[in-house]
Amino acid sequence: MKYISTRGKAEILDFKGVTLTGLARDGGLYIPETIPEFSEDKIRSLQGKSYPEVAFEVIKPFVGGCVADDDLKAMLHDTYGSSFRHDATAPMIQMGPNEWLLELFQGPTLAFKDFALQLLGRFFDYFTNGSDKKITILGATSGDTGSAAIEACRGRDNVRIFMLHPKGRVSDVQRRQMTTINEDNVTNIALDGTFDDCQALVKACFNDLEFRDAVNLTAVNSINWARVMAQIVYYFTSALSVGAPDRMVSFSVPTGNFGDIFAGYIAKKMGLPINRLIIATNSNDILVRALKTGAYHQNGVNATLSPSMDIQISSNFERLIFDLADRNPHQVASYMSELQSENGFTLSGDELARLHSSFDAFKVDDAATLETIRTVYERSGYILDPHSAIGLKAARECASLNAKPCITLATAHPAKFSSACEQAIGVTPELPGHMADLFERKEHYISLDNDKDMLQRLINVA
Ligand SMILES: *Cc1c(COP(=O)(O)O)cnc(C)c1O
Repeated sequence: MKYISTRGKAEILDFKGVTLTGLARDGGLYIPETIPEFSEDKIRSLQGKSYPEVAFEVIKPFVGGCVADDDLKAMLHDTYGSSFRHDATAPMIQMGPNEWLLELFQGPTLAFKDFALQLLGRFFDYFTNGSDKKITILGATSGDTGSAAIEACRGRDNVRIFMLHPKGRVSDVQRRQMTTINEDNVTNIALDGTFDDCQALVKACFNDLEFRDAVNLTAVNSINWARVMAQIVYYFTSALSVGAPDRMVSFSVPTGNFGDIFAGYIAKKMGLPINRLIIATNSNDILVRALKTGAYHQNGVNATLSPSMDIQISSNFERLIFDLADRNPHQVASYMSELQSENGFTLSGDELARLHSSFDAFKVDDAATLETIRTVYERSGYILDPHSAIGLKAARECASLNAKPCITLATAHPAKFSSACEQAIGVTPELPGHMADLFERKEHYISLDNDKDMLQRLINVA
């Protein structure tokens, strides 16, 4: 399997190359040159298989021989067997006659990002083992990515991880999930600044090519293709459990950077019978506006009750644009430079029609998020986290468009966002057992000024 850049000017790489590179050097995102297609019979043959078994069949063509079959099988059993707290890995809860929730928060850090990052950490190990090459992970986090990445990389011999968070601006649970991990290869940095400052500093380090090459800098944000790939699997397992390939299903996906729902789009292209893909957003609704008019324009970020979806632009949307523009990298590059210079661009009529053929989009504001948490709790006692509530609300709005049956991705455990739940229902959701003592554990982190030289010196001597 070969991977090409959406902007057409970067080196073509294999799976190992894209996993260790992250962002393409032409500024684009890597994408498979061709998408493997599964026949109905092939999909039927996956019925009744376990999560790691389905994962093996779905992932194998994308890995394209970079990992031996037996090693890949062992890696997937280890990832989805031992690190998740439920025997089904991604269990389904029925909410109504044609309505399901897919619980993606049974991993170690209580958000769906564990599905991709737990596997990515093992790929890093596999691809660096036996060599004397150490890689350096540098990331910025406003919450869920940081804890999932640290948990995935802790204790790995050839991996060092440095994670920046804006000092005083992440929730206590989110900070403690990162800072209470005590390992030599993990450095938490509380930066004097905002999340945007953290991200700008990380970007500056990646653009410093001499530094980038000297420390083998690697990215773990959702532009890393391996993350998207890992997320394709649960679209298959959940669709199979409601009757695929003999029954069409729709998905509603709480969306920020568009990585998760893009994985659903790939599943559909592989042949999984998906009817509609519903983009569920909070009031940061650039995608909802784009679906209405074709105009993709950024206009600042609002802080909401669903902070993991508070984004200005959706970085993975570039991968979809590549397809909408008939896989023409020049068109993508020209849109992206308009995004830089004019804060936005407008899709052509054909491109917009292609977008509408698979996707719907709904915006759910904070008031409607709280209302959904409340009505579901009153009806069933089930506590939704605010991100999942947005997904379910969007699914219900869309049911009138015949998006049935519909599976909503529940992307986080409610205890991770307990203050929104308290606000909605006056109940504090409990942390699962393995984290019950989170607030008693000792924190480890370094405070740092917003200064690139100081950060680079820290990384060099660590
Ligand atoms: C990251 C995240 C999202 C958004 O996922 P994208 O792949 O960025 O669209 C939604 N919900 C939660 C809880 C998250 O952590």
